[in-house]
Amino acid sequence: MSTTSSAKVTWDADVCVHAGNCVKGLPGVFKVGTEGLEIHQDAASEDEVRAVVASCPSGALQYED
Ligand code: SF4
Repeated sequence: MSTTSSAKVTWDADVCVHAGNCVKGLPGVFKVGTEGLEIHQDAASEDEVRAVVASCPSGALQYED
């Protein structure tokens, strides 16, 4: 059985340049909410989330230790 044991993705509002790669890439995971970006990490596979984190041009998306 597979589990989603991956590290949590975090978002830094001060770093984000609103390029939109995340919300366009995985709209089920990255959603713009009232307090900024909401991350529903379990809505996609770890590989899919990892690819979008890697595509973030500003480094606002990071994996927490
Ligand atoms: S991909 Fe990165 S820079 Fe672009 S909106 Fe998402 S968090 Fe911000």
